[in-house]
Amino acid sequence: MINQIKDWLRNDEVDVFLGYKMVDGHPLPHVYGKERIDDVDAFIVGTARYPLEKIATMIASTNPDIKIGMVARDCNRRTLNVLYVWNQLDPDRIKTLDVNCCPSPLKDHADCSYLEKEAAGPMKVDKGMDGNQDTASVEEIEPGARFDKWMYEFEKCIKCYGCRNICPVCFCKECSLEHSDLVGTGALPPEVPIFHLVRAVHMAGRCIDCGLCEDACPMDIPLRLLYRKVNDIVRNVFDYDTGASAEQSPFNVLGEGTPLEPKQLNAA
Ligand code: SF4
Ligand code: SF4
Ligand code: SF4
Repeated sequence: MINQIKDWLRNDEVDVFLGYKMVDGHPLPHVYGKERIDDVDAFIVGTARYPLEKIATMIASTNPDIKIGMVARDCNRRTLNVLYVWNQLDPDRIKTLDVNCCPSPLKDHADCSYLEKEAAGPMKVDKGMDGNQDTASVEEIEPGARFDKWMYEFEKCIKCYGCRNICPVCFCKECSLEHSDLVGTGALPPEVPIFHLVRAVHMAGRCIDCGLCEDACPMDIPLRLLYRKVNDIVRNVFDYDTGASAEQSPFNVLGEGTPLEPKQLNAA
């Protein structure tokens, strides 16, 4: 794998390579370049998960012609498909080194930590929503009680934006969550449930169920379960499996001819 990356850099197949490097005992994302090719010896795959695609989008926003290589697990490949559909990255300028975070072979759709959670069984949750359950179990909860459980969860929110900031498919130049006409400012928790419903609606045709938002949420809000419901609707109504391919999403109304227009680094 290390030799492969070095070859790609030496042969100009990629200009930079995004992977991981151990720094002070922590696996951190790292941009390997051809100027210091021996640095690639420090490359690791590891088990850490960061939105490498988000870094790729940022790099491409200031260097649209750059060729980017990156290590890609299933969730990374699904995210890349979404970013190609939404014209945030150019598939001709991305080269992936495919790895599997689960036992081989490569999977079409790895559910990663969600499966572990589901296998762990239901949590003891008095007032809130059990994030370990599947969406069908949520449907079985009486609507009034279901509403109360979600409201309980949303009211824990401290509006840190961690869920949006880590999400690899949150790439908008102007985020609705910071638009005072939609989400009021100066109060915690943020307007409930509008903050969360705005984000949930935006995840239609984008969320690839990586779970990074839920991992990042300091208030343990079961965000992944919420977006899995959105994905269920998208699958059932539009027959669209988000991230499964780079074909146009029913939600990308701009169409196939849309030019690449990545978010600018200095934008909100
Ligand atoms: S929350 Fe919505 S508006 Fe904000 S970056 Fe994500 S998709 Fe865009
Ligand atoms: S699971 Fe969360 S972080 Fe991952 S794509 Fe969906 S909304 Fe974004
Ligand atoms: S990460 Fe959690 S607490 Fe922070 S804004 Fe998102 S939902 Fe709210």
